[in-house]
Amino acid sequence: MIELKRLHKSYITGNNKLHVLKGLDLTIEQGELVSIMGSSGSGKSTLLNILGILDSYDQGSYKLNGTLMSNLTEKKAAHYRNNLLGFVFQSFNLISFKNAVENVALPLYYQGVSRKKRNKIALDYLDKMGLKDWAEHMPSELSGGQKQRVAIARAMISKPKVILADEPTGALDSATSIEVMELFREINKDGITMIIVTHEQDISEKTDRIIHLKDGIIEFEHNTKKLVYV
Ligand code: ADP
Ligand code: MG
Repeated sequence: MIELKRLHKSYITGNNKLHVLKGLDLTIEQGELVSIMGSSGSGKSTLLNILGILDSYDQGSYKLNGTLMSNLTEKKAAHYRNNLLGFVFQSFNLISFKNAVENVALPLYYQGVSRKKRNKIALDYLDKMGLKDWAEHMPSELSGGQKQRVAIARAMISKPKVILADEPTGALDSATSIEVMELFREINKDGITMIIVTHEQDISEKTDRIIHLKDGIIEFEHNTKKLVYV
């Protein structure tokens, strides 16, 4: 599903070059539930943004679903993003002046689905998240956990093969964080690949495979059953 080989990424600001990813190798199969751990600044978001085709890389290769992701036009990149990927962020990224159902329906708006049809589908997804009664509420009227469930419904509505989540529980209390992780586990049971960036040990322990990022490479991996050194 996802195959990174010898991946390099640097940021250049002025005369400074910051080498963030230094020849990273990683393979993630369809249906895996994976977390990426590492200290602040270790390159977790950089890696996730590359996986999400939101940013480019300098060297090496990234294959998504068998296709090499490099030198893509913005149109092609958007095509892969819209058809294969769903995104969940720490800060929810909901549109403040749209209600819950309209937020969830947004990806379908971009696909040209009629308002009536997209809102009906969005309501089904909100229902799956236990939020049917909150459909008409604005984001400001929702708790953090509810906002994140709206965001997850929005990520799900275009039927992605992979969900990429960057610190999805970073703004939530621990009880709500556990609920969100349980929701991710449920979603994963349907075969959707889940890649969750976190710096919290207890969150990563809810996944099946923990990938530790350090100094621009994968330092080691942790499986529920065994410890794998790479
Ligand atoms: P993490 O998500 O693990 O905290 P990031 O991937 O956000 O780490 O950042 C890795 C390093 O790259 C940090 O030192 C950060 O300051 C730097 N960085 C991230 N994005 C940019 C950017 N757009 N331009 C320059 N430097 C960046
Ligand atoms: Mg980050």
